[in-house]
Amino acid sequence: MAGVDNLWELLTVVTVIALAGLALLVGLVRGRGSGSKTVHRPPGAPAEADREPGAGAPPVEVDDVGGGVGTDLLEPEAPTLERPASARGRLARLRARLARSNTAIGNALLALLSRGGLDEQAWEDVEDTLLQADLGVEATEELVAALRTRVQVEGSTDPEVVRGWLREDLLRLVDPGMDRRVAASQVDGRPSVVLVVGVNGTGKTTTVGKLARVMVAEDKDVVLGAADTFRAAAADQLQTWGERVGVPTIRSEREGADPASVAFDAVRGATEFEADVVIIDTAGRLHNKAGLMDELKKVKRVIEKQSPIDEVLLVLDATTGQNGMRQAEVFRGAVDITGIVLTKLDGTAKGGIVVNVQRRLGVPVKLVGLGEGADDLAPFDPEAFVDAIIG
Ligand code: GDP
Repeated sequence: MAGVDNLWELLTVVTVIALAGLALLVGLVRGRGSGSKTVHRPPGAPAEADREPGAGAPPVEVDDVGGGVGTDLLEPEAPTLERPASARGRLARLRARLARSNTAIGNALLALLSRGGLDEQAWEDVEDTLLQADLGVEATEELVAALRTRVQVEGSTDPEVVRGWLREDLLRLVDPGMDRRVAASQVDGRPSVVLVVGVNGTGKTTTVGKLARVMVAEDKDVVLGAADTFRAAAADQLQTWGERVGVPTIRSEREGADPASVAFDAVRGATEFEADVVIIDTAGRLHNKAGLMDELKKVKRVIEKQSPIDEVLLVLDATTGQNGMRQAEVFRGAVDITGIVLTKLDGTAKGGIVVNVQRRLGVPVKLVGLGEGADDLAPFDPEAFVDAIIG
């Protein structure tokens, strides 16, 4: 009997080991496949069966990811994920849209240049047209002066030739040599950190969602951080963007939670998931400007305790002209902006703002928003842009 007992015990031990091994294997495979950490429900959260219909994804707290604000990892639960448009298709569509909204400038310039014999009045009109396109006084004067000199020196007033020169000069102002890449890959084995800042209403949260799609289309593993805790709906909005393309959002359920802690958790979560990039949305409105800037500085400081920030994108609404410029300068005082996202270029003939803002801030426009559609965000392409402006 003793022999049978020993055999039984041996079998039990072997079975337990085998099961444990299998469980571990399954856990590992699932962990890699979903790119997510082990998660658990926060204490007191309703069980799945108790949740109200339409309550959305159950909030789950990430193990060992937490900066004291009870941030949640909301795993995407969309059953059928959308496939975002590829960069190539995006560019072709957006080029056409940009041309549509900026043909007014092109037509005006063409009409002027076709008048023949470019007299003083014609040059003033060219100047006015460029100013109306928000090119800015400095760039406009520089451009018209260069063009006038060239017309004098080369002695041609053929509108097509002059238009070719205008194209060259404009392109030089837009500066095709600037590095417009957006950080989206791992750096030294850690995710790139992209912080997105800007005033409310400029399209900041929408841009974070659209940018996630651009990156997903390039097969990047993306994590979103909802550090706009000032506006409760912002985190929901961001989470929805994420769910559509299978990207997790790290957020707090609590309105008014500390944004720096949420941002910290987002970076830590992305690091643990071995993501390529974490994109962090921030608040654009506080009780006053100084408060907002102090908060942004804190967000930056706290993130930098665990990782360098690779990219700070400032979102500007292209339709706001000088006001947008002033906003940009305030933000520049608080964080080191590395790139600009110009939104709503579809709704304005003031495309010249690209030149203006680059000159004023000394950083490139990296992305442009050309509509409310999910894939209406594209990398900025200087040549296509100039062609769209001058027709
Ligand atoms: P936030 O307050 O800065 O986060 O702004 P939201 O992301 O909530 O966007 C404000 C509004 O601007 C929304 O209605 C967006 O659909 C709209 N929007 C954002 N980007 C663009 C764009 O490139 N073109 C147009 N036409 N609308 C945009």
